[in-house]
Amino acid sequence: MLLHDTLTRTDRPLHPLDGKTLRIYCCGPTVYGPAHIGNFRTFVVQDVFRRTVELGGTPTLHVRNITDVDDKTIRDSQKAGQTLGSFTAEWTAKFHADCEALNLLRPHVEPSAVAHIPHQIAMIEKLMASGHAYKAEDGSVYFKVGAFHEYGALSHLEKREIRLGAAQTDSDEYSKESMADFALWKARKDEDGVNFWASPWGEGRPGWHLECSAMILEYLGTEFDLHSGGVDLIFPHHENEIAQSCCSTGGKFASHWFHIAHLMVDGGKMSKSLGNLFTLADLQAKGYTAAEVRYVLISGHYRAPLNFTFHTLDSARQALQKLAKHEASLRAKYGAGGAPKYDDLIRHGSAGVFADAWALLTNDLNVPGALGAVFGAIKDADSTAFDVETAKSRWMDLHFVLGALGVILPEAQPDAEAPAEVVALAEQRWAAKQSKDWAAADKFRDELAALGWTTKDSKTEYKLIPL
Ligand SMILES: [Zn+2]
Repeated sequence: MLLHDTLTRTDRPLHPLDGKTLRIYCCGPTVYGPAHIGNFRTFVVQDVFRRTVELGGTPTLHVRNITDVDDKTIRDSQKAGQTLGSFTAEWTAKFHADCEALNLLRPHVEPSAVAHIPHQIAMIEKLMASGHAYKAEDGSVYFKVGAFHEYGALSHLEKREIRLGAAQTDSDEYSKESMADFALWKARKDEDGVNFWASPWGEGRPGWHLECSAMILEYLGTEFDLHSGGVDLIFPHHENEIAQSCCSTGGKFASHWFHIAHLMVDGGKMSKSLGNLFTLADLQAKGYTAAEVRYVLISGHYRAPLNFTFHTLDSARQALQKLAKHEASLRAKYGAGGAPKYDDLIRHGSAGVFADAWALLTNDLNVPGALGAVFGAIKDADSTAFDVETAKSRWMDLHFVLGALGVILPEAQPDAEAPAEVVALAEQRWAAKQSKDWAAADKFRDELAALGWTTKDSKTEYKLIPL
């Protein structure tokens, strides 16, 4: 499989470093509220990636963390009058429920920041010992960015931009030596309440960037195959992870970087103040299914911003119906029961007649191309003309590709039958058209449209289609 690598800016083949298992780390959610669909675009695309790797025959080890201590979790748990632990546990459970509804495979390991404080302290000790970190007057510990010359390689930023970027993100940290330096350990402040831990530098809590580095070392080692997140994490978060990890372990860290572009809503940025920051529950309340939301989130290429509108959800509904109808027609011919299990698909191991779709999927995860190829392959496929064996293999091949995309098929709905008055109008229109009375034909066409119907004409007949 080929995948674009943010660090080298090239499409590179993926081969597990250990020759067996592709080891993947994805930055997980901060659990202080419901994840919105912009967050889920990243997680859903990562899920398609993992499924494609696994169905392609390579097992994965997928680690995704839970950020359960930072400014936001502490602030909002206090507002809610809950302990940090009970507050983040509730939002973690909600996140898991949304993931399940969206058909995301569970990570093999899902470590939490609070459960790995000693690991983070051990990493800071190493960085202090090697001269890459220093303790400031207030008891906080900072990473010395100037001591790591490769800093900025991932984000391709010049030194000046790094200073400016850091100044914007960490403006409250006035005691550090350089604007670009970032906190590894934050000294206890009054507003942290009871949320602090003991360390060799005094009471406090780890900086946000550190948790990923510490958990990667614990579960994936000093070098691993692939690191992923949204593009907004490239700088400073991932840049900081590289600096902490490389300087404390001497390893090379991730060999491939996979970043997913933003989700836009109605052509603009999502924000709470504009009222366009949707959660899965918001969309379900409007009558859409999680399967439709997932379909929209995978439908654009992951490297381009995806514009979410309600129209895209309606289109997803239609697309899923088309797929469901085709699947049902193959199933009817083949006489199969329910959909095959994920493990059956891994054993099947082939896209068969959907080889074109598979080729696009494994070439930098071109999901829109793959979906187009699937529709192209089923467009003129008449399942009633297949023999049982052909229907059976096509049914399995279709599930193989849909399994990689994690598409959940709805029940196939029968085509709506036109009411008698619509049929009568259509007959009148057809008669007018045959006698070349174009004005009358147009009038009947408009009346049909007003009732939600149109026709598709051939030379000898017409077909009624709901609008
Ligand atoms: Zn991270």
